[in-house]
Amino acid sequence: MLDFTSLLLSIFLSAAGISVVLFGAWVTSRKDGFLLTCAVGAVLVAMSVVFSAFYAKSPQIWVVTSAYALLLGGLSTIYGTAWQFRNDVSPSRAIAVAAGVALGLTLPPHALGYNGVGFFIGFLCAAGLLILAAHHFWMARQEAPGTLITLAAFYFVIGLSFLPRAALVAMEGQAIMPGPPQNWAQNASLALIVAAVPALGALTIALNQKRLVRAHRQQALTDPLTGLPNRRALVEKIDSLNGPVALVLFDIDRFKTINDTRGHAIGDQVIILFARTLLRRARPGQMAARLGGEEFVVVSPTARLEALELEAEQIRRDFAVRARTELDLACTVSGGLARGEAGADNFALILAAADRALYRAKQLGRDRLLVEEPNGTGNEQ
Ligand code: GH3
Ligand code: MG
Ligand code: MG
Repeated sequence: MLDFTSLLLSIFLSAAGISVVLFGAWVTSRKDGFLLTCAVGAVLVAMSVVFSAFYAKSPQIWVVTSAYALLLGGLSTIYGTAWQFRNDVSPSRAIAVAAGVALGLTLPPHALGYNGVGFFIGFLCAAGLLILAAHHFWMARQEAPGTLITLAAFYFVIGLSFLPRAALVAMEGQAIMPGPPQNWAQNASLALIVAAVPALGALTIALNQKRLVRAHRQQALTDPLTGLPNRRALVEKIDSLNGPVALVLFDIDRFKTINDTRGHAIGDQVIILFARTLLRRARPGQMAARLGGEEFVVVSPTARLEALELEAEQIRRDFAVRARTELDLACTVSGGLARGEAGADNFALILAAADRALYRAKQLGRDRLLVEEPNGTGNEQ
């Protein structure tokens, strides 16, 4: 059975180790600030453990006061980590409020020599901070359910383990104790913390990894110029659809001329303007994407082309007006519409059909929309 000092030493080693790992992970991405916050919290807890071990050998008032300042400062910072993760804002205010309350309640009795009172209040504050951290991770669980529910459960159970420690101190009824409480609740709680700290560290790193993967995936599916989904995102979306789909393929008219006469930067502005026009007009359930260059697609999960045709027509008119008023350009767009059944192979066929309609629209003079019917015939609108 590990004694009090060995348990404290184990907590120190794992908390210090975890803080280095968290700090290292933060340095590599510099994006997830909650890693840095958690590393600071772990450092403070590790330092508090050193003071607690020292206090067991030499029970002086300044030692136990420092130990609890560091412990509750550290746990407030860990609470701030959960707050920061959930809300994605700087945790400094949340940490300041939590630490203000916990230190304000706990340090005066310790500093005045009433360590029994200090232990009792300190354990209750520690329990409260850890349970609040659990609450914030729990509330954020949608982002990564398995990891966040496990993390919340760990913090909740560790928080709970401080309650019997407080209860036993209260039952002893000594306002001034000769040293740190030494009882089964104390040892059980510390043993639990020894076991949990590496798991907490690993789960926190896993959260960071999940956010990085999500950010990279988002990047891979987004067109950087317009912020619209790109071709890859469109293909994924189509693969996930069942049933009928209708789509319109747009291609800006004589775009090369705009690049040649007004410059590439203005060309880019035209592309951005068209993307904004699409976003303004796209309805919920539809997906607008940039296929590449000055070609765009709107996909609608419907068997009927009529509604999409009307919307595409509005987009075509809207774009011409905005190009004139916002960019002082005479610029139009042509489009081809087609429909069919969703599915990866079918999508290529529907897109090819829309492309045929688009080609005819260009041939007929541009600035118009044409429909390619499933039997291969086209109707001018
Ligand atoms: P059409 O009416 O027949 O469509 O004529 P067009 O001039 O638009 O012909 P095309 O579709 O072949 O021209 C596409 C041009 O778009 C060629 C390419 O240089 C330009 N382009 C592709 N991507 C970008 C981009 O991101 N920015 C800019 N400024 N130009 C781009
Ligand atoms: Mg083109
Ligand atoms: Mg074009």
